[in-house]
Amino acid sequence: MNLEELDKKYVLQTYARDYTNFVKGVGSVLYDDKGKDYIDFASGIAVNSVGHGNERLANAICEQAKKIIHISNLQVIEPQAKLAEKIVKLSGYDMSVFFANSGAEANEGAIKIARKYGEIKFDKKRYKVITLEGSFHGRTITTVKATGQEHFHSSYFSPYPHGFSYENSIADVYAAIDEETVAVLIELVQGEGGVQPFDKEEIQKLASYLKKEGILLIVDEVQTGIFRTGEFLASNLYEIEPDIITLAKGLAGGVPIGAVMTKHKDILVAGDHGSTFGGNYLSTAAGLAVLEILEEMYERGDIAEALLYFENKLQNIVQKYTHLFEKEVGLGLMRGLRAKSSEIQIKTIKQSMKEGLIVLKAGRNTVRLLPSLTITKDEINEGFKRFEKAISSIV
Ligand SMILES: *Cc1c(COP(=O)(O)O)cnc(C)c1O
Repeated sequence: MNLEELDKKYVLQTYARDYTNFVKGVGSVLYDDKGKDYIDFASGIAVNSVGHGNERLANAICEQAKKIIHISNLQVIEPQAKLAEKIVKLSGYDMSVFFANSGAEANEGAIKIARKYGEIKFDKKRYKVITLEGSFHGRTITTVKATGQEHFHSSYFSPYPHGFSYENSIADVYAAIDEETVAVLIELVQGEGGVQPFDKEEIQKLASYLKKEGILLIVDEVQTGIFRTGEFLASNLYEIEPDIITLAKGLAGGVPIGAVMTKHKDILVAGDHGSTFGGNYLSTAAGLAVLEILEEMYERGDIAEALLYFENKLQNIVQKYTHLFEKEVGLGLMRGLRAKSSEIQIKTIKQSMKEGLIVLKAGRNTVRLLPSLTITKDEINEGFKRFEKAISSIV
């Protein structure tokens, strides 16, 4: 049986998969089993924040694996405490952290904190969470319900938990708040929804309004966090101080991890929440190595330089291929090209793959670009060379 047959026979077919078999990666270059190379502008959907085959990350993982991979959360875990400290210090917020294993799980934790907050901080329980249309918050029964995209709420998986509603825009959130609303959950740049950033002033206005009303602001930074927008958190870039922030994707460079951080440190107490794997030695040692690498790069100005360089290239594409793309969208190294049709979007992704470049889809007509934060100028140049080759055949 070849790999494709093996996959089709034994793996549940929940993905529309591409069958290129990648066997090795170096930085932002991936190699398939035939030796063909690909520039990686996807980094495993914003996960491989320090690229592939990163020596420092690999060594940190190996060294930790040889000592202890896992002991339960009933014991204190040194790299977990150190990673929590690192996250809090980089964020600049006075918060504490709970570790989970994925973005959805981090958001579940955030919703649990909000619901308990709504129970103990108000005379009459508040439990409703407002989210936005076009948002994406995960695939568990609760986080998929928190996701503001109707097509995710298939009746197959019903009944869903109550208490989630969706608003069309930030401006609509105000009127939707009632006496049962406990939190507003948003992405600052909607990732899956089409790489759509919100206006900074509008977000700041919402944040101060919610603070005044005693309603929690939860920012889902699963995709925007870990220097993706140029700052450690998009919340730093937007200069707001949320009540709860969730992280995952880029935090441990590909080792599964999720985190929820909050300034309300006294809401959850022993027994309220937990995870078997969450925050174990392996994932948090990986997270520490990733944050050390990225912090050094940030301090040197390397991340700022990479994102400027990447943005310039993208602007050139938009100016040159006006018949294909409307505009570029996004922030930092979380970018998109708004295609003039979903057909152009799909063709661009397919042709790019043929030319040896991996790009992603987002929303109905956006080509999404999420390169590793360690991508070099040479890799960016080569990637865009291949991109132009790929789209030059599209009419
Ligand atoms: C990817 C993503 C999630 C879900 O993360 P998983 O690790 O797949 O559970 C949640 N929120 C946002 C904004 C995401 O981009």
